[in-house]
Amino acid sequence: MEVNRTQKIELNPNNKEATRMAQHAGYARVAFNFALSSFKAGREKDEWHSHVDIKRKFNAVKRDKFRWCSDLSQNASKNAIHNFGDAITRWKSGQNNFPVYKRRDGKCSYQADNGAGTVEVYKNRIKLPKIGWVRMREELRYTGEISKVVVSKRNNRWYASILVRCDSNNYNYQPSLFEKQEKKPIGIDVGINTLATCSNGDTYDNPRPLKRYERKLARANRSLSRKVFQSQNWHKAKKRLGGVHYRIACIREDAHHQATTKIVRKASAIGVETLNISGLLRNRKLAKALSDSALSRFVTMLKYKAERRGIPITQANRFFASSKTCSSCGHKKKEVFLSDRVYHCLKCGFECDRDLNAAINLCPT
Ligand SMILES: [Zn+2]
Repeated sequence: MEVNRTQKIELNPNNKEATRMAQHAGYARVAFNFALSSFKAGREKDEWHSHVDIKRKFNAVKRDKFRWCSDLSQNASKNAIHNFGDAITRWKSGQNNFPVYKRRDGKCSYQADNGAGTVEVYKNRIKLPKIGWVRMREELRYTGEISKVVVSKRNNRWYASILVRCDSNNYNYQPSLFEKQEKKPIGIDVGINTLATCSNGDTYDNPRPLKRYERKLARANRSLSRKVFQSQNWHKAKKRLGGVHYRIACIREDAHHQATTKIVRKASAIGVETLNISGLLRNRKLAKALSDSALSRFVTMLKYKAERRGIPITQANRFFASSKTCSSCGHKKKEVFLSDRVYHCLKCGFECDRDLNAAINLCPT
């Protein structure tokens, strides 16, 4: 079975390499903007310029117009124009808005490969065209042909997203994933305070980083608002604010990855609730806590990880009353309050933690 897997690895470049990567990202931006403006100019004359036409045009003028590009990898501009072509296709099919110009202070990235099999990775190094061997923070965990490499910068760190065409579902560096463990069906109640309560008794906490970083965030926001718009210090403050946001996102993502991986390792089948997030977001008291816990991302993660391992995952009907039903006798309460932490059955006297009761109800049989 051939599968595509992406791994995003942080790079550990020296100053020279980082500068070169920034130059390539700048080149990609210039090429994209060139493509956009020539496409727009063509449309005014009622001409349709395909990305192939534009690429030809770009290649004809680049040595004069952008003389500095001659010692950069041409893959950066080629892929940027190609991506522009994709953006136009998506726009035509109504999937996206019309592309906009990329800004100097926007996302910093470029695609480094020249088709499948053109970028080499050896242990914890990656060979980027015209830059050379750059150190990575970890080794690539998949083996197979590398079909795409996107280099990007986020919060002053550089990353490479490496797409690998694997021959099979191999996890070279994670043999523990295939360790024989006793596997059981697991039902999961997803919540705000406890991220996941499993029917086998395991619980995973929600880190709620937004709450933890609230003061830091407020300070960064205040500092930004005091700066003169678009000044040097304004840009610095903006970067700092972005850093706090990024940190929050990372903490959340890490917790979700850890919990979902642990769950799928133990499960032979998984049952979860269908979350009615948008409905809950209308509840103003819950909205902040909910968007902080980013639960839908958690469920998405759980789904793809289960899928990869061939574990069936069922989502209960949205109206399934997992928290109102008794997991012991099936009696259904009329109403359950959020403040009731313990489920107490009026019919059979069964008593247990509310979330655990819901998790047991969701457990696939
Ligand atoms: Zn009962």
